[in-house]
This record gives sequence, C-alpha cells and structure tokens, in this order.
Amino acid sequence: MKSIKKADNTVIVIFGGTGDLAKRKLIPAFYNLYLDGWMPEKFSIIGLGRTELDDEEYRERLYEGLGDFSRSGKPDADKWATFKESISYFVSNIDDPKSFVELGKKMDATDKEWGARASRLFYMSVAPRFIEAVTVNINSAGIAADADKDRIIIEKPFGHNKETAIELNNLLVRTFQEQQIYRIDHYLGKETVQNILAFRFANALFEPLWNRNYIDYVQVTVAEQVGVEERGGYYESAGALKDMIQNHLLQILCMVAMEPPISFNAEEIRNRKVDVLRAVRRIKPEEVHHYAVRGQYGEGWLQGKKVPGYRQEPDVNPKSNTETFVAIKFYLDNWRWQGVPFYLRTGKRMQDKTSSITIQFRPVPHTTFQDSAADNMMANRLTINIQPQMDIRLRFTTKKAGLEMELNPAEMIFDYDDCSTQTPEAYETLLLDAMRKDATLFMRADQVEEAWDVITSIQNAWESRDSLDFPNYAAGSWGPEDAEALIARQGHVWAVNAHQKDKKK
Ligand code: NAD
Repeated sequence: MKSIKKADNTVIVIFGGTGDLAKRKLIPAFYNLYLDGWMPEKFSIIGLGRTELDDEEYRERLYEGLGDFSRSGKPDADKWATFKESISYFVSNIDDPKSFVELGKKMDATDKEWGARASRLFYMSVAPRFIEAVTVNINSAGIAADADKDRIIIEKPFGHNKETAIELNNLLVRTFQEQQIYRIDHYLGKETVQNILAFRFANALFEPLWNRNYIDYVQVTVAEQVGVEERGGYYESAGALKDMIQNHLLQILCMVAMEPPISFNAEEIRNRKVDVLRAVRRIKPEEVHHYAVRGQYGEGWLQGKKVPGYRQEPDVNPKSNTETFVAIKFYLDNWRWQGVPFYLRTGKRMQDKTSSITIQFRPVPHTTFQDSAADNMMANRLTINIQPQMDIRLRFTTKKAGLEMELNPAEMIFDYDDCSTQTPEAYETLLLDAMRKDATLFMRADQVEEAWDVITSIQNAWESRDSLDFPNYAAGSWGPEDAEALIARQGHVWAVNAHQKDKKK
C-alpha cells in the first residue's frame, strides 16, 4: 500500500476564523484530512476573530458547520472529541500589532511543548482590505520569519486589476519570499481539474492529436444556477469577468493548452502555465465587442420557480452595470494553437449548473460514407465534465447494428462515480499541499499578473461604457443571444446547450 507522506508538525492560524469560509470549507477540510489520516502528527488550529468566545464556544460553532457542510456529515462523537482538542480560539483585532505579538507567544509555547519549531500556516480568510494590516503586523512581530517553514495562503480576489495585483504582490514580498506565498484558486484543487494533467500527460494516445492539426476549437463553460444570493454587495464590485474568468476559467485554459512539463515540479508546471497566458492574444480595445459578450440576468423561471433579475437582488444597484455573464473568444499565438478558438463562458442564473470542457476535434478529411449513412457522422469530441457531473466522455462514430451501413454516434465514458473512493473536496487537496509545501496548484505572482493582463482591455472597455441592453438574458436561459452569435460566426455552437437538448430528447 502507498504510504502517506504527512506534513511536518504545523500550527495553522486562520485570520477570519469566525467567518463563512472557515466554517463552510476550511474546518471541514481539515477535519476530513484528519479522518483520512493526512493531518500532521502534531497540529494546532488557531481561529482568530474579534468576537469574545472561549475555546469551547468556538469549537461548538465549528461543530455545527461540520454537520452542515462536511462531505463526511455530522462528526462521530469520539473522533470529534479528539480533533477538537487541537482547535483553539484567539481573540484578536487584525489592526492591533500587540495581538500578533501575543499570537507569537502562543505559537512559541506550542513549539516548546512539541520540542521543536513547528511549521506555521497563516490563512487569510478575511476581506482583501485586511491583507496589508496582517502582513505588516506579521512582519513586525517576526512570527513568519522562517522562509522554509512558514507560509501564507491568500484567497481570491487577488487585486481587482493588473495594477492592484502588482501592488499586492509588492506588498507581500516585503514580508514573505515568493516560495512562502500560496495564492489559492480552489478550482485547481478539484479532482476533475487535476485529472486534466493525468489525462494529457499519462496517456500517449491524445497528446499527438492535441494541437491545431486535429482540434477545431475548445470550449470551457462554467454555468451556475444560483444568482448572487446574499453576496450582492461583493458582486457589485466584482462581476463575472473578475470573479470567474480572470482566475478559474483562465486556469482551466492553461491546463488544457500548456506544453508537456518536464517534471511535476511546482515551478516547472507553473512555468508551462504562464507560457499559455503569455501566448493568449491580447484583444485590442477597439475589438472588444468582436471577441467578448457581457450579460446580466433579468427575471425568469428556474426549475418551475419565478426568480428575480439581478437588479432586484439585495444590495444591488437598480441600475447596475455589473455583468453576471461573460463569453469570450481567445486565440493563442504559438505553434500548437495558432488559429484554434478557445471559447470561455460563465454565467449566473443559467439553465443548468455545469462546469465542463469540450475539445472538439476536426471532422474526417473525406467522407467515405454516402448520403443517409453519413447523416449521423459527427466529429470526435472529448468532454471533461468538472462538476456536478464528474466524467470524461469521448464521442466517436460507430456502425448502427443492422443490414444497412448506417452510422451512429457513441460515447466512451469514464465516470468518477464508478470509482469506489470518496472524492476529496478541493480545499482538502489544497490545504494538504500547502501543509506539505507543494505549491504546484497555487498561483505564482507572474501567473496572477498575466491573467489580469489578458482581460485588461475588456475590463477597461466595460468599465468605461455602460451596457445599454442590460438585462439581456432571462434567468433560466443560456445567456444572451449575442453569445451564440459570437461563436456562430465560425459555424460553432455551445456544446453544453446542445448536450442539454440531447438529454431532454
Ligand atoms: P466573512 O465576512 O464571513 O468573514 C470575515 C472574517 O473576518 C470574520 O471572521 C470577521 O470576524 C473577520 N474580521 C473582520 N474584520 C476583522 C478585524 N478587524 N480583525 C479581526 N478579524 C476581522 O468572509 P468569508 O466569506 O469567510 O470570506 C473570507 C475571504 O475568503 C474573502 O476574501 C472572500 O473573498 C474569500 N472567499 C470566500 C469564499 C466563501 O465561500 N465564503 C469563497 C472564496 C473566497
């Protein structure tokens, strides 16, 4: 049996320990890692917050969260009793340098108890405006001074444009070395996203076809059924371009388009990915309308229920110009991908919840079959479904059983549900990697900056000009008609919509 490579003893500090992310994602992830035997031999989780709570009250809150959000459900009483001993609460205000000194003393006491200086993992589970105060105070208290042992995890959003991302990187390197900074994009921790690398680089079959000679186009769709719910205040200043395209969708694009890495070394993988971002052809300001479509949902129907439009959501400006849908056509200027369109699309209040990648291969060069036989001949297509459906499907053409030569599309399917093991949550993978000091799935400074650069012209165009046709798609649809037109110019259709229609037949 493969032995588990555990992390060194670690003290985990969660800034924003009483917040939503800690309760819904971080603590359930640590707990499941603990259940599966992945936590370090010795670990301590310190939740920080301003609310006056004692350890037991804090643990009680987290216990409730586990029942609601952990993939393993309500914790087993004995397991929880042992796990909770490693959790403590520390009342602290981020703006108060003294509390960082006190935090340092608490961590020193743990080191003493454990007999050696432990690794320290600081998780920034707070709004971005606090990053400066946290890093300055960590620095002055000298509590993350060991560059080999101490790390900081930064949540998205990482800046709100290229300039602010550079400023943030400059701020962080005053306290941390790049190797200590883990910029998290939880999409990269998803099992199905990681599998793109295994699929591409552990199989000899597909790589020779993975280029402009055989691939017609690539589509990435990340569609949500939810609207902005309670997050209107945040979303108003974000929008789909910054909230989804700049990070999740561009990262998926990198995984699909990158050159084969020489090794699985973190820097090697990140070098290959940043090469992709550099190759993405920058869209000229005057051509934004030709390559990108924005949308905002109006009221509509979803699963038999009437739902409000974006402008009617709580904390949203009734005249909001924020986009809840984006579709973009990108080209990559390199040998492998010259001339192949990459269509990226994401939206809220879409007809279905689905994240998927479509690799559309070119049709056969010559049709051997005649007339009706060829009617059902479809070009090969590889679909990687990321969520909620998790599978890889390869469409190919077969002969329909019978006396005539008739063709029919068929699919080979690898379904994750057929694997017996439970799939870990993205945060489990990423937190374990951070504890083990493996930054492969985290974003480096240059990746983040390039990703912002890729969308800068679109961002500027949309921020400087209000959309005159918002809302331009009904909740429960597949987005604005312009998004269909964007790719119809090349004779293409969105594969996911077509797939949904097939399902309904
Ligand atoms: P939240 O508002 O629920 O929690 C924020 C936390 O910060 C609270 O614990 C609050 O007490 C603490 N805080 C605020 N001011 C403080 C101060 N002066 N001193 C000490 N603590 C203070 O936010 P959240 O949803 O947990 O999100 C945290 C970060 O994670 C944000 O950057 C967000 O964008 C990002 N994020 C959240 C999610 C999610 O699912 N919630 C997903 C992805 C990214």
